[in-house]
Amino acid sequence: MHSLTKLLSIITTNYPNAPQAQLNEVERAYAFAELAHQNQKRASGTEYIQHPLGTAEILAESKLPLPIIMAGLLHDVPEETKFTLNDIKKEFGADIADMVEGITKVGHVKYRGINRYVENLRKMFVAMADDVRVIIIKFADRLDNLQTLFVLPANKQKRIALETLEIYAPIANRLGMGDLQGRLEDAAFKYAYAEQYQWVDQLFKQRAPKKEQTLDRMLELAQKALKKENIKIKNIFGRKKRYYSLYRKLLKYDKNINQIYDIIAARIIVDDISACYAVVGIIHALWKPVKGRIKDYIAQPKPNGYQSLHTTVFGENGEIIEFQIRTMEMDEQAELGIASHWKYKETVPTSDKKIVWIEDLVKWMKSQQDKNFLEKIKIDIFQNRIFVFTPNGDVIDLPDGATPIDFAYHIHTGLGDKCGQVLINNEIAPLDFKLRNGDIVKIILDKNRKGPSAKWLSFVKTSTARHHILNYTKKTGWKRFLPLSK
Ligand code: MN
Repeated sequence: MHSLTKLLSIITTNYPNAPQAQLNEVERAYAFAELAHQNQKRASGTEYIQHPLGTAEILAESKLPLPIIMAGLLHDVPEETKFTLNDIKKEFGADIADMVEGITKVGHVKYRGINRYVENLRKMFVAMADDVRVIIIKFADRLDNLQTLFVLPANKQKRIALETLEIYAPIANRLGMGDLQGRLEDAAFKYAYAEQYQWVDQLFKQRAPKKEQTLDRMLELAQKALKKENIKIKNIFGRKKRYYSLYRKLLKYDKNINQIYDIIAARIIVDDISACYAVVGIIHALWKPVKGRIKDYIAQPKPNGYQSLHTTVFGENGEIIEFQIRTMEMDEQAELGIASHWKYKETVPTSDKKIVWIEDLVKWMKSQQDKNFLEKIKIDIFQNRIFVFTPNGDVIDLPDGATPIDFAYHIHTGLGDKCGQVLINNEIAPLDFKLRNGDIVKIILDKNRKGPSAKWLSFVKTSTARHHILNYTKKTGWKRFLPLSK
């Protein structure tokens, strides 16, 4: 059972300095939602308000700012009650109303004749480019809905679960929100792949108890050794691998659980980076490291920004145990992703203006050290990237102002060279058309075309397109026709 009391206690635990005035606002949002959903029941038979409350609790657990939590409380009001978006705007202001509108929209875009998977992916990306907070609330909404998925018919359960695993969780991963990703995956796993879930559950329960015992003993020994060397431990504990993540790893390792060393791993949180390296040395003095299993994700973070030191050792009782060593900041970054950025900004982040917020996000993303990170996730430059779709539903991201020619060259040189006509959302458009978020772009080939037109250079945006067009013109010697200005 969810309750306002529980919600407020999560918030005050995460934000001990939250001003009373802001807590009052959360209470006011709750009271409004409760009134609006009065006498409504969910399919599971519980009071409707349990769902927005559950959603808000998840957001609070993820340490998100209070306005996002308020939007979570209000997210189903315009859709499910007689109160409108305008009522929310009057009561709680434009920013919260905008978020609620975003959530309603994400749930509402009509089909355009392509399958549901593609359509959902499209909605998510479009909404994400607009305001990433909407996506995060949608994650929490989905996670809460998964808790009562058992009331739905089996085919619906499966569809929602697969959608969660294939669309929601990967986006959470890209946003670095490991905790939310893991919760979404584990809640969906048993509905998407029931047999495999049982299998993993069995394997885990066979292996875990002995490992857990050994690990407890090793954590004790490690703690003593670290104390002796004057290393201050912020936290030390055993963490269990989540089932879906274990499942994926099992598939990678021939389904052999004995090849997987981190079903339960030791995690040690210390003050700073030099302490992290010192801890590895001390652990290796206690137990012999397994060759080739030392991973320095501090010097070389994973593509989504994950940082930590990992090492695997031959531990007590013949058990092979993995240690994960990191700072508090790295730990919060790994679990909370974007939310950890809000947390360090001020005691109670307000994120009042969307523009400011997106700028902050961009800064935060740029501060990530791994250059590939920016390359790979592509949501770094929100303000000047757009997401468009191929007719098959693949998402292509391009700079703002990109044209169908840029799109064509992005996909394949041949497609650019022989580009004849373009359909945008099934309608003919000019080749210098400025693409918009969510457009479905279909290039029609002109088989008689010998190569690109030099005219295209006057409007293409990407270096890929420019490069191919210039190359062609050089080869064919029609350089003299190039516009002088470019
Ligand atoms: Mn909902």
